[in-house]
Amino acid sequence: MTDVHILIAIDGPSGSGKSTLAKRLAKELGLIYIDTGALYRTIGLHIQQKGLESTDTVNIINALSEIDITMRLENSQGKVFLNGNPVGDEIRTPKSSIYASDVSKIPEVRTFLLELQRNIAVRNSVAMDGRDIGTVILPNADVKIFLFADDEDRAERRYKELIAKGTNVTYEEVLNDVKWRDNNDKTREIAPAIPAEDAIMLNNSGMQEDETFEAALKIIKDKLKL
Ligand code: C5P
Repeated sequence: MTDVHILIAIDGPSGSGKSTLAKRLAKELGLIYIDTGALYRTIGLHIQQKGLESTDTVNIINALSEIDITMRLENSQGKVFLNGNPVGDEIRTPKSSIYASDVSKIPEVRTFLLELQRNIAVRNSVAMDGRDIGTVILPNADVKIFLFADDEDRAERRYKELIAKGTNVTYEEVLNDVKWRDNNDKTREIAPAIPAEDAIMLNNSGMQEDETFEAALKIIKDKLKL
């Protein structure tokens, strides 16, 4: 499958399991996995480290000139670097999620990250996950999947992930974060987190990881006639 150029877009709300799914699909199909949320989280991290509020739009736009974000491909995944330094789990805290969601509403921030995302897809076959991959970043993707699930299912998964990483949160905090972030992401004026017209909707409420993977793989194989 390495000689054909394949672009797979996986969009959906937080906690729907996009990254787990996209990572597995990439492995199965020999593609590069790109987590675009990590890019917004990295800008959010820099803003947080500067001591700015996540809603301080003017100063956030000014700060973009001091941010250099690159992605290097390691083990078939895009690793994010902020001003030359690799970013890690510090971009995964609940506070970082809020910062990421808020900075992602700023048109200048989205423009700042646009070419980086598209360039990777020009040069590589990718499974890319995010909120606007099918609508804005890769409108010509070969397959677009919009993955979603009930709020409670998504909060439960996110909660377990955070606890496993040793983050100190309660289920209620995570549920509130999931609801707040969905609303913030869906209602923003630019690139709202909504399905592309030609996206295939996949509701994985109550489904295990394997079932979601099998369902998505079938969608892709049918679409690509593999
Ligand atoms: O996917 P993840 O939850 O890590 O994304 C963090 C935040 O980044 C999202 O809540 C969303 O606001 C923003 N985002 C975005 N567009 C993308 C990916 C993420 O606006 N393509």
